[in-house]
Amino acid sequence: MALNHFISFPRLGSNAWIKFIQRPTSTSTQDLISYACSICGAPCKSQAGLNYHYIKRHSGKLSSYLRRNPVETYVQIFGTNYKSLSTRELRYANGLVVTLEGKHRGFWYSFVNGQGGGPLKAISHALDTANFSETMKMALQISGLKPSQFLDLQMEDDFEAVNPDTSIWDATKMARINTAKSIWSACEPLKGTLAARYLIEHRKIPTQTLSLLFFKFLGPSKGYREFIDSDTYETKTNGNPALVVPVQDGFGTLTGVQRIYLDSMTGNKFAKYSRTKFSKGVIKNSAAVIQKAQFNQPLILCEGPETGASLAAAFPHVSVLASLSLANLQGCGEVVKAQSPSQVIVAGDLDDNVANQELLRFHFQSLQDQMDVEIRLIVPCCSLRKHGDWNDILIDQGISEIKRQIRL
Ligand SMILES: [Zn+2]
Repeated sequence: MALNHFISFPRLGSNAWIKFIQRPTSTSTQDLISYACSICGAPCKSQAGLNYHYIKRHSGKLSSYLRRNPVETYVQIFGTNYKSLSTRELRYANGLVVTLEGKHRGFWYSFVNGQGGGPLKAISHALDTANFSETMKMALQISGLKPSQFLDLQMEDDFEAVNPDTSIWDATKMARINTAKSIWSACEPLKGTLAARYLIEHRKIPTQTLSLLFFKFLGPSKGYREFIDSDTYETKTNGNPALVVPVQDGFGTLTGVQRIYLDSMTGNKFAKYSRTKFSKGVIKNSAAVIQKAQFNQPLILCEGPETGASLAAAFPHVSVLASLSLANLQGCGEVVKAQSPSQVIVAGDLDDNVANQELLRFHFQSLQDQMDVEIRLIVPCCSLRKHGDWNDILIDQGISEIKRQIRL
């Protein structure tokens, strides 16, 4: 579980205060005998009963209280090593954002793994526990309140009416999907655009491959709708030109997009930003669609869009999907199965870091467990490199070398 926790939450806990305070013990003799509520003292007959008691009696109020002062709350959960803090939001590395104002105040969202919710869900993740009693004990500790103070606390009704860890989270998720759909509909076909130039000139993708790719181009100053909830939106204008990659779930529904920002002078990835790839929508349990083939054909699953385009160039008759992150590899299972492939190739990236190799194998095995067809893991063999992907093979040695290393 610890490994799984690390994977789904790469930044969480790295500098988090929560690691340094004593984890609540749930196996004391007292708990085993009576399962008493640590807040009001009510006795329960079982752990499940106690969890239910916490949810019914105390969770809404405690969550609301923690959301009142979101900065104080979340630096204790996610750590003090944040990237930026404004009146609107608290931002951490890897696309983890806490909203500080408006009706979503005190909610967090991770753009990388498509998860979010209220403070209690964040604490459960940080503790890596499915035991709600542990979460509640830690939440009370973070609030700084004694049980008696918490019980005496009067909360405004409107703040408590919202169930922070389900309803708003679903609405937020839907808003992000709608924003992604709006961006996608503002895009234009690839041919003749800067994105086509990027793929051909800088990534050495053959021109004839482009017509098979699902990529599109988002021009500068194109407008789209950024949804705040199901029917409220702001009109936004795109800045720099971008290559846009569609992200779909197992039903073939668009759930997200990834934008790769390009420098309009050079046609290459935008060098001014250290990070040029920005996802919008829900990525987790979905996959980027690079190329789609008929059913009963082989399917290649890789990590990034450019490496995917390189594989599509070598194999025009197979489906190519990209997980967009190592952590989402196992989340692609449903999308892969929806293509009814005859066999599955996971085309990984070459990385001489042993920990990353372990992670790749771990995620591959998790995906393998979901499959009922042959599935293989193939990592590129580059004699000159310690790190590399299939696009490096294409650039260095050409399409024939990709075909030599991946035999279908
Ligand atoms: Zn109680």
